[in-house]
Amino acid sequence: MASLKQLLELQRCDTALLQLKHHLATLSERTNLTAATTVLNGFNKELVAVKAQLKVAQHDIELLEIDNKKCESSIAKYAQQLKTIIAPREAEALQHEITMATAVRSANDDKELALLEVAEQFDRQQLELSNQIIKQNEVIEQAKRSLALAIEQCEQSKLELEAKRITVSAMIAPELIKLYDLKKNKRTTPAVADLNKATCQSCHLDLSTVELSALKKCPEDVIPECPNCDCYLVV
Ligand SMILES: [Zn+2]
Repeated sequence: MASLKQLLELQRCDTALLQLKHHLATLSERTNLTAATTVLNGFNKELVAVKAQLKVAQHDIELLEIDNKKCESSIAKYAQQLKTIIAPREAEALQHEITMATAVRSANDDKELALLEVAEQFDRQQLELSNQIIKQNEVIEQAKRSLALAIEQCEQSKLELEAKRITVSAMIAPELIKLYDLKKNKRTTPAVADLNKATCQSCHLDLSTVELSALKKCPEDVIPECPNCDCYLVV
């Protein structure tokens, strides 16, 4: 019976190790890091889009400026020609060209002004996103540190549990450990449990008074088992 109690200790070590493994796989710190990284990726994606839009706006502004230079040189050229022309019809035609080029330049100026506002807005967005990215990187660094700490704590607990398991195992007869391993590998609930009043702590079912007294009268060479789930029972 004494070694069955130690076997229960071994089972507790194994249960704790299993819980630790599950805890390590589902650390909230890891979820937090993933969430923070998703936010950062979103910001980066947005920044790429804003930069591309800014580039398009700047390119359009450059094109308008090139076109305006052409308009201005045309206007200058026509004005020069006007000075040497005597025929009124030719002068009228040149005047018309000047009016047309001036109208184009004026329309270009309006477009450029609108585009400059758009570009300014993209510029502000770019700056805002860059600041958000800096802050988010700090959040990620913090999340990484928290995760590393949580993993380290798990590893420490694991080492302690494994050391305890070795100590406990050393006190149990190897044949009993073999039986325990066989039973443990066939089930998901604990292979060894004790009773809480009349309740088996592996299957959580109640044992009848008759079952209880039968277990208590169990011969020394027989390991008591739960009549419901077959686990070894410390009675
Ligand atoms: Zn049971």
